[in-house]
Amino acid sequence: MTQSSAYRDPAVAAGLLDRIRDKAAKFARPVTLMEVCGTHTMAIHEHGLRGLLPAGIRLVSGPGCPVCVTPIDYVDQALALSRLPDTIITTFGDMVRVPGSQTSLLEEKARGADIRIVYSALDAVSLARHNPDRQVVFLGVGFETTAPTVAGAILQAQQAELDNFSVLCAHKTMPAPMQALSADPDLQVDGYLCPAHVSAIIGADAYTELTVRYQVPCVVTGFEPLDILQGVDMLVSQIVGGIARVENQYRRYVKNAGNPRAQQLLTQVFEPCDARWRGLGLITASGLQIRAAYSFFDAAQRFGVTVAPAAEPLGCRCGEILKGKLGPRDCPLFGQRCTPATPVGACMVSSEGTCAAEYKYGF
Ligand code: SF4
Repeated sequence: MTQSSAYRDPAVAAGLLDRIRDKAAKFARPVTLMEVCGTHTMAIHEHGLRGLLPAGIRLVSGPGCPVCVTPIDYVDQALALSRLPDTIITTFGDMVRVPGSQTSLLEEKARGADIRIVYSALDAVSLARHNPDRQVVFLGVGFETTAPTVAGAILQAQQAELDNFSVLCAHKTMPAPMQALSADPDLQVDGYLCPAHVSAIIGADAYTELTVRYQVPCVVTGFEPLDILQGVDMLVSQIVGGIARVENQYRRYVKNAGNPRAQQLLTQVFEPCDARWRGLGLITASGLQIRAAYSFFDAAQRFGVTVAPAAEPLGCRCGEILKGKLGPRDCPLFGQRCTPATPVGACMVSSEGTCAAEYKYGF
């Protein structure tokens, strides 16, 4: 049995589901569990896990897709930068299709803007090195998973004394949005499947305050079907037992203290800042900004481009979906005006978006 198939054994899945059903039968009311990671969202849809759970467990998606939680204004800012002379915009693939207020990076690329998809921030540094007469801007979007590589790119650009590389920084951090969701009186999240990639960097201990302050169980969970079912089983065990603590189902990759080297990179180059999240609004200390010592590499400061506040696309329910209040099919545009080929909102664009997952596996 390969390592992957070991985490997909149907007999083990059936046993886990039996245990989950037995425990769910003891709930005094239906409970809501939230996965806070786009990769979990895709895996849950791909393997049809939501439909296997008993009726007393509602599994909802949270703000775990970095592209989905990036405000439209940021896209507008990137678009404004793409119109500056001798400028190359570099980004990961999903961002080019996210609609801004009027257009998208992909549409502007078709009109002649120099927008390039890269696989790493270091590719953008290399591009800057080979194009000394052009300004190369990297779109810094993502959680603690990607931010360390962007920190490394900034340090590499500094070492190479590149004066034509910069980052438009919109990095966000966990677990601040989970705390914001738990503090929202209109929401009731009874347990979190914590984001595994992020947790590999920040460590399982990062969720301790959340469990203490809001008495909500947290389980760091892997991405295979059995990982997720076991994570759900661990959450329902805590709920039935009236316990709220951090448990780590994904010990094979996630340490309690995380990755100290990556954390050191983050701390060296970035500092916490208040950040606006699509659907969740402004959350205190939930983002990263480039420290003053590296402000030379901050595209927002270097170019001073400002844009008008942007409104959400008419009819799009991304905001409520990112809070777990609604599902994709509650949006009247789902599968009609909004499809992966013609996305209206970011949740349909990203390969980790809830609407994209529902469209791909639910139709
Ligand atoms: Fe937004 Fe499209 Fe999802 Fe509706 S289906 S919430 S328009 S992304």
